[in-house]
Amino acid sequence: MIDYHLHTPLCRHALGSPEEYLAAARQKGLREIGFADHYPLGLLGREPEAAVSMKPGELPGYIREIRALGAGEKEIAVKLGAEVDYLPGTEELLAELLAGDPFDFVIGSLHFMGDWDFTHPYHAHRYEEQPLEQIYSRYFELLWQACASGLFDIIGHIDGIKKFGHRLPDEAMEPYWRETARVLRANGLCFELNSSGKDAPAAEFYPGRRLLELCYREGVPVTLGSDAHGPEQVGRYFDEALALLREVGYRELAVFSQRRRSFIAMEESGR
Ligand code: ZN
Ligand code: FE
Ligand code: FE
Ligand code: ZN
Repeated sequence: MIDYHLHTPLCRHALGSPEEYLAAARQKGLREIGFADHYPLGLLGREPEAAVSMKPGELPGYIREIRALGAGEKEIAVKLGAEVDYLPGTEELLAELLAGDPFDFVIGSLHFMGDWDFTHPYHAHRYEEQPLEQIYSRYFELLWQACASGLFDIIGHIDGIKKFGHRLPDEAMEPYWRETARVLRANGLCFELNSSGKDAPAAEFYPGRRLLELCYREGVPVTLGSDAHGPEQVGRYFDEALALLREVGYRELAVFSQRRRSFIAMEESGR
C-alpha cells in the first residue's frame, strides 16, 4: 500500500516529525509514502492571516529533510512532493517555480475561492452567505481551470467543496461529476482517493463513489492518500478505500518519480 499525501509541521497546522510519519507508515506496512506539504503561498504572492503553508524560506529545508529521510530508509520508498494551491493568475509564475523544484509529484488543490479559504472551519459560515448552486458552479469552474493548467500531476481532494456537508442533490451533481471525469482524462491527469473526507463533516472519501465510477469509466488513473496532518492519520481508512477502488474496477495505483507516472498493482500494494 502507498500513502501519497502526508503533511509536516512546516504548514503550521500539522503535528509530528517526518520521522514519525515514516514510523507510522512502517507500522501500517506501507511500501511507499509521499510527503506533500503545503507549498509556500508566499511564493505565489498570497499570505493569508492564518498561516496555512510553509514559508518561502522553508522550502529548501523541507526538500533537504524529506530527501535525507528517504536516503536513510531501506524498506519504504519516500517520495518528495508538494500540495500546491491553484490560484488563477499565478500559472506562469508557478510553472517557473516548479520547473526549478526537484519534486517527484505535485498535487494541485483548491482551498481558496477568491479570498475565501473554503476548507477552513473558521470560514465555513460563508457557505450560508450565497446560494449553494453558485458556490458549486464557481468551484467546478475553478477545478477545471486547475486541471487545464498543465501544472499538476495529481488533483487533490477533488470534490473538497463538500467538506462541511453542504451538498447539492445527486441529479444536480451529475453534470459536474461527468465533466470533471472528462476534464481529468482530457488533460492526462491523475486524481487521488483522499481518505481524509471520512473525518470531515462530509463523512465520505474525496471523491464520492459516483465520481470515482465515472473516473474509472474514463480511464483516469488514481492514487491514494490520507492527507495526514498527524502521524496517527497515516493510512487512515485504507482497507475501506482499497475495497471501494476494487469494487469500482481499479486494479492499480499511480506512483511518481521525478514527475513521471508509473503504476503498481493494488494486490501488491495491499496488506
Ligand atoms: Zn493542510
Ligand atoms: Fe488540501
Ligand atoms: Fe493536504
Ligand atoms: Zn489536502
